[in-house]
Order: sequence, then structure tokens, then C-alpha cells
Amino acid sequence: MIQANDFRRMWAEVETAAAEVFREVGASGWYILGKEVVQFEQALARYWGVASCVGVASGLDAIEIALRALGCRAGDRVVTTPLSAFATTLAIVKLGAIPVFVDVDEHGLIDLERCRRALGRGARFLLPVHLYGHALDLDRLRALRAEFGCRVVEDCAQSVGAAWKGQATGSAGDAAATSFYPTKNLGAFGDGGALLTDDEAVAEKARALRDYGQTAKYRHDVLGYNSRLDELQAALLHRVLLGRLAEWTRRRREIARAYLTTIRNPKVRAPGAPEGSESCWHLFPVLVDDKAAFLEHLKSNDVGAGEHYPLLIPEQRAMEGSAWESECSLERARAWSRSQVSLPIHPYLTAEEVARVAAVCNLY
Ligand SMILES: *Cc1c(COP(=O)(O)O)cnc(C)c1O
Repeated sequence: MIQANDFRRMWAEVETAAAEVFREVGASGWYILGKEVVQFEQALARYWGVASCVGVASGLDAIEIALRALGCRAGDRVVTTPLSAFATTLAIVKLGAIPVFVDVDEHGLIDLERCRRALGRGARFLLPVHLYGHALDLDRLRALRAEFGCRVVEDCAQSVGAAWKGQATGSAGDAAATSFYPTKNLGAFGDGGALLTDDEAVAEKARALRDYGQTAKYRHDVLGYNSRLDELQAALLHRVLLGRLAEWTRRRREIARAYLTTIRNPKVRAPGAPEGSESCWHLFPVLVDDKAAFLEHLKSNDVGAGEHYPLLIPEQRAMEGSAWESECSLERARAWSRSQVSLPIHPYLTAEEVARVAAVCNLY
């Protein structure tokens, strides 16, 4: 079986280094918010090319805390995409804010022209997602920020290492949020996330919010969260995983190129990455007319696959009790979700496996 993710292969490579880090953190006697978290935050900020990084407990929390640090409150409208991990919208709804969904473009990414219209109607926040590891047009994001004076949080949970014309995703907004959930391009051995920003005031607010709103010992100026990144996860991310990210990204790009050149079945359409996007290929989406039949075909040929995402966020049952709006019909997103399938693209796939996945697609 060719799996969508194969963590055991990664473990075989990193076991020795990871065990050493575990021993060191264990022996240090300090397990929450210590020097490992600080050092990882500095390393990730450097890697990302931003001034500050704040480690938190998950990608979901990174988005919620970023929005809150930027002043998002109950009743505020936040423009976002209906086609993403549910967490993107959940972060908005948890704040009592109102998601305003706009349709997607021909790559399944939030349509920035539609965002412009929604912002023109008074929404003050924008939460775009660099879905699949494809970079949105950062120049247009900056232009939207300048035109409307809106606050922008970029959801970079899938786009660690991706760039738009050489600029890292996450560098166009007021803050970026990312996730270290194991399946992500920089995945930890458990949950984790981070918020990145060039605005030191935002970083400082986020540091207080992640720790019950504590601004000095026993001093709580706001009602915060328990959303701290563990020393152990930070040390593993910093000393074992981050150094491998560039090679993993290179390998994902190589696999994407191989799929794009070898999958030639007109029934399995690969949209590729948007022009200008140096994608980090978190996922490799293809579009088919009969999704159920194609998924069955992959399964019967021992190829693991995913769907990102089969049900639009506003159509989830959990959204029935929450306020949300849509700027326009979500037809494109709905059509996309009906036909999208993700092929395996993790960095531990062998050349033979990549060739087999392509062959199985060509045989469909
Ligand atoms: C994974 C993901 C999240 C949430 O991250 P968690 O660490 O699982 O909370 C948010 N947005 C997107 C686009 C994601 O892929």
C-alpha cells in the first residue's frame, strides 16, 4: 500500500537524533516554555524571514490568537474561504466573529477579486489560506491591505516553505499562522503551532494570550488560553526536523514535477500550481468527474488518497448554529469539492512508488 503519509519511514531516519533530544529535554527538568521554545521560535523566525515567532499548542490556536492579537472581536466580519481545514473557520467562530465566505479560483484557492468585493462591503479582517502549499498572490494581498486598511492573517498551515515570486507566504499580512500537526510539511510528534509576525506588539500580545493572558508572573491583564508549545516538541522541531525541511520541500517539488509530466490521462486533470507560486506541495490535487469511482480505483490498486475537502465549511452541520455570510455563490468551491482528490506526495515516497501512482492514474 502506498500511503498518503508514511511516518514510520521518517522515524527510521530520525530515531537516533530524536532519542538524543528526548534524553536532553528530559534531563533538563524544564518542560514548558523554556529555552527550547525560545530557540525554536528564533530559528523558525529566521527560516521564515520574519522578526518574531510565538509557539502555541496548534494551528487552530495560532489563527485564533493572531486574530485576537490584531483586535478581532465578537461581531467582526472575517473574509475567508469555504474550502479549507475546518480549523480556519473554527478560529473565527470561537471568537464570536462572523466568517464571510468567498468563492475559490481555478486552483481551489480563495479568489482575491472576490475578497476585494467583500472587503469593500466593510469586513475588517481577511483570513486567506495558502491551500495545498500553493502561494496566493502576495502582491495582491498587500494591495488589499493598503486599499482597505484591513488586518490580514495568512493561514500558512499548509505552506511552510512556499513562496510567491521569492517572498515567503506569511510575509504579506499582519501575521501568519502555521501548524505542526504531524501530516504538515513541518510536522511534530504531536500537536503544535506558531504565529509569525513582524509586529513586535502583536507578538507580545500573543505571548500573553497563549499563557492565560499573563503579562508578568501572576499578573493577568486579559483572559487568555492555555496554548503553549511543549519544550519537547520545540526541541524536536528545532534540532531534528527543521534542518530537514528544505530537503523535504525539494523532494515534494520533484514528485509534483514527476506527476505533472507523467500523468497523461485526460480523465485525471492536474491543475498544477498557480503562476508565480513556488509551491511547497503539501498536497497534490487532481480533478476527476467521478470521484467515488476514481477513489475506488486508487484503493483497489493500493494507492492511498485523500479529499481536500469533500464538504464546504458553511455546509458542515456545526455551522448551522453559527452566524456566517457568503459574499457570492460558492459554486466553484462546490464543484471543486465534488471532483478533487489528493494523490500521495510525502517526501519518503520512492521513485518507483511515484511512477506506480502515475501509472495507476493513467490506467483509470
Ligand atoms: C491543519 C490546518 C489547520 C489547523 O491546524 P491544527 O494544528 O490541526 O490545529 C488550519 N488551517 C489549515 C489550512 C490546515 O491545513
